[in-house]
This record gives sequence, structure tokens and C-alpha cells, in this order.
Amino acid sequence: MLSKEKTIEQLENNIRVCQKCRLCKTATKAVPGEGNINSKIVFIGEAPGEMEDKTGRPFVGRAGQLLEKSLEKIGYKRENVWIGNIIKHRPPQNRDPLPDEIAACEGFLAMQLEAISPLLIVTLGRFSMNYFYPEGKISRDRGRVIRSGPYNVYPVYHPAAALRNPGMMKDFLSDFVGIPAVLKKLESSNTVTSNIPDVTEHDDGQLGLGL
Ligand code: SF4
Repeated sequence: MLSKEKTIEQLENNIRVCQKCRLCKTATKAVPGEGNINSKIVFIGEAPGEMEDKTGRPFVGRAGQLLEKSLEKIGYKRENVWIGNIIKHRPPQNRDPLPDEIAACEGFLAMQLEAISPLLIVTLGRFSMNYFYPEGKISRDRGRVIRSGPYNVYPVYHPAAALRNPGMMKDFLSDFVGIPAVLKKLESSNTVTSNIPDVTEHDDGQLGLGL
């Protein structure tokens, strides 16, 4: 049996040569995901954007800067957590991923998460939330812990959406502030007690990022 490191490395290599959907034909680089594979918390977005496509790294554009600053404000460093996407190649012009593209790609994330085995998955945006909770509505279910199979999922708005919409920014920052308390609660119980969706307690304070 492969070690966790070798499993992740092999998956990344497979992603880089994958041709299971049309997106590999228009993308520049695959973006498998990066960070600490021993982290208790992972952040999952939708798909690579322009900067991610150029660099092969997740969340390195403006949305990534917001994510990094938000992480710092709650005491995490980017390199301490694992960050990935559902879709590993950029959709042209950042269009929404199509159902057959999501279906073709979803196995990679499933295998990455199985290897990492995080205690908490923070989903960024509705596509990522719907990967774990297809009936979910981001405006209704953000900021709550949802049990999805073996995982505890905490949906927040996508940082790119927050940058476009001041109302979403307020909710994004408010939900982000709640992450340490959610993680602490999960660490003490090692599970949430009820199924979908379980409202969690969190601080409604602002991060004060000045963004
Ligand atoms: S987006 Fe996913 S399924 Fe499609 S080619 Fe890339 S890695 Fe393969």
C-alpha cells in the first residue's frame, strides 16, 4: 500500500496527464491542489481561473489573496492547510463547469480527500458545496456544518463572489470567523451529531480585512 505522500503524488501526476474531458485541450496547466496533506482542514473551490491556469497553483489570483488574508486573520497560514478544486483544468473564459466535466473529474478530488482524510472541509462557492451536498443552497446553508458521508463540510461563499458583491463579502468574512470554533468543536467531539444541515454556533464578528 502506498504512503499518503506517494498516493497524493501519484494522483497529481495522473491529473497532469488526464484527458478525460475537453477542458485539458484549452487549459494551459492542470491545477491538482497544494498544501499540507496532513492538515485537519482543507479548502475546496470550483475550478482554476486565469492565474491558476498559468501557474498550476490553486487560488493565486485576487480571490486567492482574499483567501490568504482571511486565513491569516483566523491564525492559519496558507501553507498549513490544503487547498484544491473540484475541477482540475480551467474552463474557457472561466465559464461554469458542465455536468459531464464535473462527473469526469470528481473522482480525483474524492481520492485526494480519501488520502488526506480531513476533519473539516470548507467549500468555497456553490459548485463545491453541491459536490458534497447536491440539494444545498449556498445562501441558505453557508456557515453551517453539513455531514456528507465521512466528511464534515462547512460551506462559505466563493471569495471571487465576495469580491464582486459587498453583501456576500460580509457573509463570507462572518462565516470565515466561525471556522476555528467549528474546528474546535469537531476536534472535541470528532463528529457532528446530526445529519444535514446542522447549524453551528459561530461568532458574527468581522475580520476587518479592509477589502
Ligand atoms: S478537468 Fe479533470 S477530468 Fe477534465 S481533463 Fe482535467 S483532470 Fe481530467
